[in-house]
Amino acid sequence: RAKSAGGNRFELADPESDARAITRHGLTTALPAALERGEFFIEYQPLVNLGDGSVRGAEALVRWLHPQHGVLSPDRFIPLAEHTGLIVPLGRWVLEQSVRQARAWRERHGGADALGPLRINVNLSPCQLTHPGLVQDTVDILERTGVEPDALCLEVTESALIGADDDLLKPLRRLAEMGVDIALDDFGTGYSNLANLRRLPVSVLKLDRSFTQSMQQFPADPVDLKIVEGIVSLAHSLDLTVTVEGVETGAQAEQLRILGCDTAQGWYYARPGPPERLHELALVDATG
Ligand code: C2E
Ligand code: MG
Ligand code: MG
Ligand code: MG
Repeated sequence: RAKSAGGNRFELADPESDARAITRHGLTTALPAALERGEFFIEYQPLVNLGDGSVRGAEALVRWLHPQHGVLSPDRFIPLAEHTGLIVPLGRWVLEQSVRQARAWRERHGGADALGPLRINVNLSPCQLTHPGLVQDTVDILERTGVEPDALCLEVTESALIGADDDLLKPLRRLAEMGVDIALDDFGTGYSNLANLRRLPVSVLKLDRSFTQSMQQFPADPVDLKIVEGIVSLAHSLDLTVTVEGVETGAQAEQLRILGCDTAQGWYYARPGPPERLHELALVDATG
């Protein structure tokens, strides 16, 4: 389809980008009602100890069951929710649901889990970081659910903290002092200022999937190996735990384990799924 723009000039309109533009607008305006109607749901993806393969917890990943478009991935609607500010109530909802779920796992596991209770990782968008209610909302949710702060890990992307001043770091520091873990998500994708790490109240580095992808060959590219080795040793010397994302093969898992990474997440272990699935995985694990 060509849109005539007068004279002998014309533009080709990309029908796909047109459709995207319409749905973008449609999705944006549908977001608030979707939250009220309960169209969002959360999938959980296990976090696995690379040393012994045990399930240590899970990351909460939000999805939107749209009445016309079906299940939408967060990449489709989180940016829209950030743009309109709906991310604040949506993020609060995700946090509360996830912490409740963590309590349910912990209750069902009880003393049967010799490996320690399951923990929950929740993503925070930069808009939530600058929202003044973050610390109080988190405290309230933990109190309401009776979950200890050290069962919770909040994931913030490296880019959200680039050039972060003290005002931005203050709420994260408060949460870290309470015992909540802070993870630096997608680490290594942006401008990674390693020296800056010391200043940040983080206790977990989540190495981006691109590093995992470069471990596809066994042995992997020697330069990539050196880079990951360097990051891991620096992280450990700063008392940070290293989690790797996007592990899809056993070879990648083995390579990353040898390099000293602590925790892994990826399709090789499990895709994101309903909460019952995590319970089954963890239970199998605890009983042998
Ligand atoms: P993320 O936090 O880096 O989450 C990891 C993403 O990698 C998830 O995509 C997950 O499904 C995907 N993944 C996991 N294992 C593998 C693997 O082995 N291979 C590949 N190719 N992918 C894998 P998802 O669920 O589509 O989420 C995308 C992003 O949306 C997340 O990236 C996170 O930044 C954001 N997000 C998800 N839930 C929330 C939320 O509740 N709040 C906020 N603010 N952001 C969220
Ligand atoms: Mg994450
Ligand atoms: Mg990530
Ligand atoms: Mg990512």
